[in-house]
Amino acid sequence: MAVSSFDLTGKRVWVAGHRGMAGAAIARRLRRENCEIVTADRNDLDLLRQADVHGWVADTKIDAVFLAAATVGGIMANATRPAEFLYENLVIETNVIHAAKSAGVKKLLFLGSSCIYPRMAEQPMREEALLTGALEPTNEWYAIAKIAGIKLCAAFRRQYGCDFVSVMPTNLFGPGDRYDAENGHVVAALIMKIHAAKRSSSATVELWGTGTPKREFLFTEDLADACVFVLKNYSDELFLNVGTGRDMTILELAESIARVAGWNGTFVFDRSKPDGMPRKVMDVSRLHALGWNAQTSFDEGIKQAYEWYLANVVDRAA
Ligand code: GDP
Repeated sequence: MAVSSFDLTGKRVWVAGHRGMAGAAIARRLRRENCEIVTADRNDLDLLRQADVHGWVADTKIDAVFLAAATVGGIMANATRPAEFLYENLVIETNVIHAAKSAGVKKLLFLGSSCIYPRMAEQPMREEALLTGALEPTNEWYAIAKIAGIKLCAAFRRQYGCDFVSVMPTNLFGPGDRYDAENGHVVAALIMKIHAAKRSSSATVELWGTGTPKREFLFTEDLADACVFVLKNYSDELFLNVGTGRDMTILELAESIARVAGWNGTFVFDRSKPDGMPRKVMDVSRLHALGWNAQTSFDEGIKQAYEWYLANVVDRAA
């Protein structure tokens, strides 16, 4: 693995996707670096418009990019909006990566996703498992786009010598998550459902699927710290997994959230909804070998995510 040193001091750093959960966390983390954070709101720059992206990147004089912009969502959003997930993610990646190369950006970090791995990949999933088998059908559209993004970074490195790297975060949760029962990811969806059950003194909460699939969860602030660490310290074609290396069942996740929220009911299962991948846990030994480890315990992360939800979603709606 090629270790490198990229000094952020005095650099102009664009966080593409700074309104999303991952991008916002990266922007917060960058405030501790001595760099200038550059962002563009959707009204000022539409990442789906190639000419606009090229013009903006050339004019803005950027040294480094965190490419966290993406069309994202949970298992139902992925399964029911395949065209948006494939098309929009491909266009955002190709526009930003090509514009960065054209404008001479010195370093770029692309955020992929753990869903790039085959459905039946050996667990924990090593980086080498990429493209060794068929994808999980509920999120193959998103996965194909993210695989293309990894390959774009690798191809631009090989052909043009661009210092573009990729990370594959596992399932994320934390402040700024999307609280949308249909389109959101599982942690946000369960925080919403369990809080609603507590408020209405309901004795049951419905989980989609069987509750048996296993997932690994990473707190956004840890993800952001890993992204800054990798951008500063890593330069190679091979992407890096980012996670904790530990997983739990969806039912265990639900029970943890219930504990934090102070709700004592029971869970029932809607088996008409998909389970998705049976197990998804990352092998994070490469990142550990470089010297990075996640710092936030799962319970602490859930506590902070729930507090954020109460303060920013529940209180604001009241
Ligand atoms: P995935 O990790 O890409 O499959 O996406 P999600 O973050 O949406 O997690 C999906 C897993 O959580 C699947 O096994 C679902 O069956 C399960 N799950 C249980 N209840 C819910 C829910 O209310 N919303 C979501 N998104 N997933 C749920």
